[in-house]
Amino acid sequence: MIDQVKDTDLGVRADFPVLSRLMRGKPLVYLDNGATSLKPQSVIDAEVAYLRDNGATIHRGVYEFSERATTMYDDARVRIKRFVGCPEDGEVVFTKSATESSNIIARSWGAKFLRPGDRVVTTEIEHHANIIPWQEVARATGAELAFIPIGPRGEIDPGDVARTINDRTRIVAVTGMSNVTGAMPAVREIAQIAHAAGALVVVDGAQLVSHHPVNLAELDADFVIWSSHKMCGPTGVGFLYARKCLLEQMDPFLYGGDMIVKVTKDRATYAQAPEKFEPGTPNISGVIALTAAIDYLEAIGMDRIADLEDRLLARAEEALGEIPGVTLYVPDSVGRRGGILSFNVDGVHPHDVGSMLDSEGIAVRAGFHCAQPFMRHMGVGGTVRASFYLYNTAADVDALVAGVRRAKEFFQ
Ligand code: PLP
Repeated sequence: MIDQVKDTDLGVRADFPVLSRLMRGKPLVYLDNGATSLKPQSVIDAEVAYLRDNGATIHRGVYEFSERATTMYDDARVRIKRFVGCPEDGEVVFTKSATESSNIIARSWGAKFLRPGDRVVTTEIEHHANIIPWQEVARATGAELAFIPIGPRGEIDPGDVARTINDRTRIVAVTGMSNVTGAMPAVREIAQIAHAAGALVVVDGAQLVSHHPVNLAELDADFVIWSSHKMCGPTGVGFLYARKCLLEQMDPFLYGGDMIVKVTKDRATYAQAPEKFEPGTPNISGVIALTAAIDYLEAIGMDRIADLEDRLLARAEEALGEIPGVTLYVPDSVGRRGGILSFNVDGVHPHDVGSMLDSEGIAVRAGFHCAQPFMRHMGVGGTVRASFYLYNTAADVDALVAGVRRAKEFFQ
């Protein structure tokens, strides 16, 4: 057993009120961070403060409270752009989720520019949010959806990327970090190959941005999607990064107020991005509280968070790997991985393992993780998934391992 207990606690647990609650009468061990993260008190306070002390809408009011809300909302955009190293020629649009962001790309870019015979390239390791929108737009436009061949545990060889991209490839949509195995495909290399063939690159950063330092200028993707709720922020706030020139070419996804330059009886002209893609009253309290999440993560440091997750992952992998009859779904030599570990106990349904862990206050995810093609590829109906974040500790890992041992004894 790796003995790095003191290096496996960032000392932040007290910042997360829910961690002092009981689950099933037991101290909560929260290991479902791949689904969503818990929220620190500062984020809760920021959201409550806006609702309590302001509550006005943005951009439209000519009165002080609205101007203040607008300043906070606009400031959140400046902060999230800085957080991800958004290049000068890029923009971040607020959406309601990473899922909505990928749908915007598929509809507003894909449906407009894809032609019959064009190719959209993706992988079987994607979350459904980065596959289904492409399936639909390919069907609607007559484009072909092609999959990069992957190894037994979803390994991606850049050589296969190059072989799958042809001169009709317009889009390469790939995850920055798998929500099933934590694998982090070589996105920069993939972007280089795609760009050399004249294709655009969409990176699903839902896991990557929440768990690792990211610099969009270096990543060199054309579109990146991610969401606030996985990075200590509120739910209902997502992000779409794109190069401004692409956003200019795209049509709006939704139509209505707060996105126009002029409206007459029979037509409208639209504002530039980001407003063009943000009609209607947005999630103002969520966006404002996001700023507190960014402050919080920056104060701790994304490097430290990623390093902690490395250590927790290694500890969990080693200890669970020692239990006979436990299969770990760990990709082979894919470079760095995020803090996500999928496993199964032979002969026991993942839901039964999950329920047994739940009875001990341990929250994991059990099922197909919105990644059915990947499950099918690995020949499983589902897995148990433990996923780590900045408040997890070696004690959480040890509780998980002990819980899995007990589940195995109980069911076998
Ligand atoms: N992509 C990945 C890799 C994810 O893990 C998730 C959420 O689990 C999503 C996309 C969708 O994110 P959201 O629920 O914020 O739309």
